[in-house]
Amino acid sequence: MNRLSKKKARVQINHKFCKLCGICVDFCPVKNLLITDHKLIDFAKCTGCGTCEKRCPDFAITIITSNE
Ligand code: SF4
Ligand code: SF4
Repeated sequence: MNRLSKKKARVQINHKFCKLCGICVDFCPVKNLLITDHKLIDFAKCTGCGTCEKRCPDFAITIITSNE
């Protein structure tokens, strides 16, 4: 089995906690995150690397991973 192709990841954003600091946007290696209209959005191309979740100072991001 190809271990690179079976994992799916999505970003869960807690908008109550998010202060729109932009750290996650800057650190995401695939440019999946963007702040627009005073809101953090994602483009559904998360690879599940976990960087944004680790770097967010306000615990506003949870990465949900699942195997298909
Ligand atoms: S790092 Fe956290 S607080 Fe900052 S924009 Fe991203 S989710 Fe929001
Ligand atoms: S987990 Fe990685 S790829 Fe997914 S949004 Fe966060 S930094 Fe980007």
